[in-house]
Amino acid sequence: MSFQNTLEFAQALDLADPLRKYREEFYFPRVGGKEVIYFTGNSLGLQPKRTQRFVDEVMTDWKELAVEGHFHADKPWWDYHERLAAPLAKVVGAKTAEVTVMNTLTVNLHLLMVSFYRPTKKRFKILCEEKAFPSDQYMFQSQVKFHGLDPEITIVEVKKRKGEHHWRTEDVIEKINEIGEELALVLIGGVNYYNGQVFDIERITEAGKSVGAYVGWDLAHAVGNIELKLHDWGADFAAWCSYKYMNSGPGNASGVYIHEKYLDRKDIPRFEGWWGTKKETRFLMKPEFEPMPNADAWQISNAPVLSLAPYLASLELFEEVGMPPLIAKRNQIVAYLEFVLHEIDKEVESTFEIITPKDRGCQLSVFLHGEGRSLFDFLMSNGVITDWREPNVIRLAPAPFYCSFEDMYRFGQLLKKGILEKV
Ligand SMILES: *Cc1c(COP(=O)(O)O)cnc(C)c1O
Repeated sequence: MSFQNTLEFAQALDLADPLRKYREEFYFPRVGGKEVIYFTGNSLGLQPKRTQRFVDEVMTDWKELAVEGHFHADKPWWDYHERLAAPLAKVVGAKTAEVTVMNTLTVNLHLLMVSFYRPTKKRFKILCEEKAFPSDQYMFQSQVKFHGLDPEITIVEVKKRKGEHHWRTEDVIEKINEIGEELALVLIGGVNYYNGQVFDIERITEAGKSVGAYVGWDLAHAVGNIELKLHDWGADFAAWCSYKYMNSGPGNASGVYIHEKYLDRKDIPRFEGWWGTKKETRFLMKPEFEPMPNADAWQISNAPVLSLAPYLASLELFEEVGMPPLIAKRNQIVAYLEFVLHEIDKEVESTFEIITPKDRGCQLSVFLHGEGRSLFDFLMSNGVITDWREPNVIRLAPAPFYCSFEDMYRFGQLLKKGILEKV
């Protein structure tokens, strides 16, 4: 389709958008009385209007039933988490038994490393992308030190090539083969938080496994954004947060996937607690641990029901829409945003550089050569919520659930104004 950078054209795209009614399902913050143009669904997704009802339900049950709510609430708390597994499994392309919700993301990655990072004298190295999300870097270092190893030697980073802004799959695979028998674990962010690149999860997983390593994925920026087929791709494990594209609220609970071949086993090293034991006998308080036959075996504490409620509300929306329509709209809205950026670039003779490669999801990271932070401040004070990363990159993520094509057009006009006025 050939695009036009006009309000009429953008509005026509909105009219033809099968997901347009979902914008009404979300609350938008306001600046100067007007709804903002929201580009940070990759950081904290907007609040679905139905979330309040899910949370109120738990609050009311607690008020009226107190401890009895564990078994007698409308949605009993003791197995509340089980309601999330099936819809979430669809979002990540897994079997229901392979998915659970617990804790928060970095905590879960640590717990999964307990199971899947068991260095030996010969096989001990970890492969990740250079400049991984800081929390992941701290996690790798602390895990490696915990095992008494030297992070310098143990953690191997795949670099981008000089002058390039993205990683090449062949470079990742070459590194995997180079480390070979010393490689214990591959753990990469499935979608990079900085440049928005989508890694080839399938091929990298296959390469890692072919040298005998475990392969896991941090899917913080991938879940609810790109198509995932974790089970078919044979990933060993993955974890993600729920507050980015999954719209479940700040710091909320994390999802976990563990391949079915590791389920229902007692011999897997794992940090255990009572919520991982068979629910049929859990309250007999027996001394021996009988693992749940699914990913719930990794649960430790009883589930944080007040956190799960917003996640369940959000999953109801994902269930209703399904990933394919979201991905179809994502492709179109990101392509339109890219077009608008190029048009504005021509009009103002600025030099933007989109550093996101073609393997992308919802996010475009734009390098603003010669533009300062004041441009970002101008955008923010004019109702464009985006973020700024040093040295001068703005990340634009038009989440398909609630962003409109008109938003993209209006953003372009504001960007142009900001640059021309040299704010
Ligand atoms: C957002 C994000 C996190 C956040 O971790 P928390 O434990 O939820 O604070 C971790 N890793 C990546 C790649 C992220 O993008």
